[in-house]
Amino acid sequence: MERTCRNTELSIANVGQVVTLVGWVSRKRNLGSILFIDLRDRSGIIQIYVKEGMEIPDVRSEYVISVTGEVAKRKEPNPKMKTGDIEIIASKIELINTAKTTPLLIQDDTDALEEVRLKYRYLDLRRPCMQRFFDIRDQIKIITHNYLHSLGFCEIETPMLCASSPEGAKEYLVPSRLHHGSFYALPQSPQMFKQLLMIGGFERYYQIARCFRDEDLRADRQPDFTQIDIETSFLDQQQFLTMMEELIRRYFKEIVNYDVKLPLRQMTYKEAMERFGSDKPDTRFGFELKNLKETFANSSFEAYKTAESVRGITVNGVANETSRKVIDELTLEAKKFGLGGLGVIKKENGEFSGSIVKFLSDAEKADLNKIFDLKDNDIVIIAAGKDNRVTPLLGALRLKYGKKLGLIKPNTYDLLWVVDFPMFERDVETNSIVATHHPFTRPRDEDLKYMDEDPTKMLSYAYDIVINGYEAGGGTLRIYDQNVQKKIFNILGLSDQDVQDKFGYFVNALQYGTPPHAGMAFGLDRMTMILGGTENIRDVIAFPKNLAGVCPMSGAPNKVTRQQVEDLGIKFMDEEGK
Ligand code: ASP
Repeated sequence: MERTCRNTELSIANVGQVVTLVGWVSRKRNLGSILFIDLRDRSGIIQIYVKEGMEIPDVRSEYVISVTGEVAKRKEPNPKMKTGDIEIIASKIELINTAKTTPLLIQDDTDALEEVRLKYRYLDLRRPCMQRFFDIRDQIKIITHNYLHSLGFCEIETPMLCASSPEGAKEYLVPSRLHHGSFYALPQSPQMFKQLLMIGGFERYYQIARCFRDEDLRADRQPDFTQIDIETSFLDQQQFLTMMEELIRRYFKEIVNYDVKLPLRQMTYKEAMERFGSDKPDTRFGFELKNLKETFANSSFEAYKTAESVRGITVNGVANETSRKVIDELTLEAKKFGLGGLGVIKKENGEFSGSIVKFLSDAEKADLNKIFDLKDNDIVIIAAGKDNRVTPLLGALRLKYGKKLGLIKPNTYDLLWVVDFPMFERDVETNSIVATHHPFTRPRDEDLKYMDEDPTKMLSYAYDIVINGYEAGGGTLRIYDQNVQKKIFNILGLSDQDVQDKFGYFVNALQYGTPPHAGMAFGLDRMTMILGGTENIRDVIAFPKNLAGVCPMSGAPNKVTRQQVEDLGIKFMDEEGK
């Protein structure tokens, strides 16, 4: 039986035509002697009308059938369906395949547990909302290909089996069968390869690149994920950002018909941290952080007077619901950020209350009133301690309240560049110096002078594209001077020998006429989440892992045979670790 078209290609214009459709039985309704079947194919659903007395095979949900019949105008149109004006009056129905009863309902609205959805992913993927996510994902790729090719970019694949290169996160290792004791690493990103392609003279490269990071998983992280990876030569930062903005504009226009105003706003990292407590600020609502260092400079409250940093936020209209329990929860949050606690002040009937109020002078209270423009029923949350704990804590609380109070309107988009990131930061746990982006980031020319004396003062040519509080992508201008590159590695604690051992091929390449180059990577998964309106990265990856890093469908990672492992020159340790 040859299919003549897809379900939703038909409309009122086709009334009277005889067509043959194929698909899955989405729903069957027996209305006495007549029968309605909702037939679903990739394009959508159409209603099939089976007349009284017609002989048809036994059809049930998710059976695969073909239907031949005439397109007819419906007596009662259904405005909610794309094909709601018409139906097919069946003249022949053939059974192509049967189906077991599915463990989840194939419809947008599902109460199936995510674990079940992942185990039967192929059924979950049949749901129309899931198909839409993958259409968006596909559209992003097509727009990327078209736009970048129009600018002379060349798509080039880089290896999956790479040399290990400590870029930040932990790597996945693949043992070599031919060289026992040696390992390939899966790429965290094609960073060095794309830079080598610039040295290789390509000038404009991109790749829809698979990347792997062995990190703890969260709602917006997966161990294998996809980047739209881009690198260019001979552009300065603004030229590069302008080029990328047009790509972003096209994503929004073509996929959700939203007009992004260009040029995009740029905010320094410093401002983002000070005002929003985050390097990926969601600026769609207030509750901005305020610096209270001066307010408490001479305070009799020692904890605030002596703290490296004292900052606060106000949340409007919640004093009456800020119970002891809520304050305990906030305190718990502070502990997660490594702080002893926080101060919560309520303003009710013109009066302050809360456990720290007794320590505050009238001048300090007046200051708080002024800084936060406090009204009755507002609260102030104050945190004190190390600034790299205080600021992110308040940023997180601000976001939590913004979401809880519904201050973020759905389907609104907030896009900005965050720029001028520090070159290095101190690891909160170990206090050691780490690269904020990666070690190939170029320090700002005017900050090179701090390289020897205090490298943590250096800012870099780095930029992140932040959309609705997500880091949707990021990149940097690159170091193209081998001596600067070596020094940066040294600052990160690598000796010249380490640099030769780990990055020798790369620093050697830098000596052969390296052009100034710049690039970035967009998270394809994140971009799809933003445009598709989901907060769950697993919704936009066809076969994802769960939060334990396991694929509930295939069982990966799974046990392999002893022989397979021995071939790789690897021995299992026994229980004593021998
Ligand atoms: N490789 C970087 C990353 O994965 C992006 C870039 O600098 O191009 O975040």
